[in-house]
Amino acid sequence: MKVLVLNSGSSSLKYKLVDTEARRTLVAGLAERLGRGGRTHADAIAEAVAASAAHRVDAVGHRVVHGGARFVHPTLLDPECVAAIEECVPLAPAHNPHNLAGIRAACAALPGVPQVAVFDTAFHATLPRRARTYAIDGVLAERLGLRRYGFHGTSHAFVAAEAARALGRPLEELRLVTLHLGNGASACAVERGSSTETSMGLTPLEGLVMGSRCGDLDPGLVLRLLREPGASLDSVEELLGSRSGLAGLSGVGNDLRDLEARAAEGHDPSRLAIAVFSHRVRKYIGAYAAVMGGLDAVVFTGGIGQNAVAMRRRILQRLEFLGVVLDEARNAAVRVDEAQRVAEVSAPESRVRVLVVATDEELRIAELTAEVAAGLHRVGADGAVGLAVSRAHVHLDAASLQALFPGRERLTPRAPLSQPGLFLAEERVDVL
Ligand code: ADP
Repeated sequence: MKVLVLNSGSSSLKYKLVDTEARRTLVAGLAERLGRGGRTHADAIAEAVAASAAHRVDAVGHRVVHGGARFVHPTLLDPECVAAIEECVPLAPAHNPHNLAGIRAACAALPGVPQVAVFDTAFHATLPRRARTYAIDGVLAERLGLRRYGFHGTSHAFVAAEAARALGRPLEELRLVTLHLGNGASACAVERGSSTETSMGLTPLEGLVMGSRCGDLDPGLVLRLLREPGASLDSVEELLGSRSGLAGLSGVGNDLRDLEARAAEGHDPSRLAIAVFSHRVRKYIGAYAAVMGGLDAVVFTGGIGQNAVAMRRRILQRLEFLGVVLDEARNAAVRVDEAQRVAEVSAPESRVRVLVVATDEELRIAELTAEVAAGLHRVGADGAVGLAVSRAHVHLDAASLQALFPGRERLTPRAPLSQPGLFLAEERVDVL
């Protein structure tokens, strides 16, 4: 299947047309500087559709950051789902509105093409209660949805599956710690294929040190900051989300390469930032090994995980007691990419294997989208029609439409719906 994957951010849209059988990217692009009176998400999606025009787009897969407690699987989009994603906006006000803008524009640009949402939170739906619960008033937490959701799920799931394949063992037998270390960073305990712990929580602010986010800190510190004269909610949010982490500690910026260069010159704040970052990751590896009662492999991914040789070495220091032995030469030499996705950097005697995996969230979104879309194509020889059932209506794809209304390419509009491109049709199907 050819799946157009859309990742709509606040000011940019990343798109990739993926051939899911060949696991290959056919077209890729990035539209930047959206909004602020300039181009819109709809313009960017028109660009993505035009760039993909040489191919038939079978389905569209949307990255959606927050699916709340409701969306735990890739979901075929209909107006009801879009409204439910809208309800998740308070959980991710910086992300979900832009994801929704992309969904609306794509539905309008490619009517009739199945559109599927894949949620960053979904892989962590398996977090056990003990791991997802904050120790606060339970009634209040329930009412406000205050619990740990976790993010980067698509990446953690993808690299865990790639790691299992490379190790030649079923995921269901393995206890992995996956480390997505990019500008945003999170760790995940993938126990027998399921996420059982992860470092991001209600928001992506919790957990590891990130490019410009603080990660874990004492909630008392936040209260202390709020009591500072002149402090506001917005100023504290900005401090913790945009002026902390590697950038805040070093004063150099959020790019680890710059910090490494300055640290080599003896710049102490950069050295400290690197030490705090690696210490925090190491702490999580130990904690997650304890949580899972053992550890088979550590998996590095993301811009830092895939490329930062010295950082990988630092993180794994002191973990010999767990059975982790790094092969320094391999660690220094590895390169992973779309052609060579997985490389091992542990020594032959290492009880715990250490892998570096090139993540590919778009490929994973495309594969999940293709699975959902393929489910729609089951028009059996006996005349059975594949349906996806929502609360108040059913979905039909083009093949099912042909089976029910032979010779008809489109339905007949009767009245427009509020969602662009959608309408109430004349045609009726009775589901008995
Ligand atoms: P995002 O989370 O925005 O997708 P990436 O996964 O691309 O980010 O990761 C960006 C981070 O990767 C930056 O901090 C950058 O410094 C780091 N990085 C990329 N290449 C290297 C390298 N060779 N050495 C150290 N850090 C690197």
